[in-house]
Amino acid sequence: MTSEGPDHDEDPAERKMRFLFALRTRGVTDARVLTAMERIDRGRFVKNIFSDRAYEDMPLPISCGQTISQPSVVGLMTQALNVQPRDVVLEIGTGSGYQAAILSLLARRVYTVDRHRRLVREADALFRDMNLANITAVARDGSFGWPEQAPFDRIIVTAAAEDPPTPLLQQLKPGGIMVLPVGQSDTLQSLIKVTRTATGFEYDELRPVRFVPLVEGLASE
Ligand code: SAH
Repeated sequence: MTSEGPDHDEDPAERKMRFLFALRTRGVTDARVLTAMERIDRGRFVKNIFSDRAYEDMPLPISCGQTISQPSVVGLMTQALNVQPRDVVLEIGTGSGYQAAILSLLARRVYTVDRHRRLVREADALFRDMNLANITAVARDGSFGWPEQAPFDRIIVTAAAEDPPTPLLQQLKPGGIMVLPVGQSDTLQSLIKVTRTATGFEYDELRPVRFVPLVEGLASE
């Protein structure tokens, strides 16, 4: 067995320790983030043939041709977001629901949207089953944010746009933080952190990443 390889006989506690160790090795050091990632079982969010790879540090296919992000990237984005217990968070790109589930343990309320109704339906069923009652998931085009619920303390985008969408910048509270990948979808993108100050926005480039593209409009399913 390699350190990354699946091991069908592995004891769940040992598997979890390896999962957390891999996160720490890749720079996820925030204790609150690690605790949340320890509590949310990624195996619940990955289905069928890929489920035995859920504890490896790699992105995996989910329904509707989308992907659940790599755990270390989820951890690093969550860490950069610096979520506080009273925060209201908006996530664009519910996907499997994994990222939203982790955020729900750190924030007061999480709003999450996806352009695929089916993904929202499946994620919402999991949130109910896991008693994650502070998440509201709806199908809508996240490029426009969610003006009715704005402003947000934190915004996380898990699909890549060429530039930070203006409506999302507008829906961020002063002092708020947004973390998102930017760049062309078929090349390397950069993960950036945008902080809204009293007078404008500060941008920090965090690391290269690769995400599925942010696509405008609701999908057909
Ligand atoms: N955060 C997810 C991974 C998301 S993959 C997880 O934890 O599993 C990116 C998601 O963004 C896809 O599900 C895709 O449907 C969604 N997406 C792409 N463009 C969008 C848009 N304009 N509005 C809302 N969701 C969008």
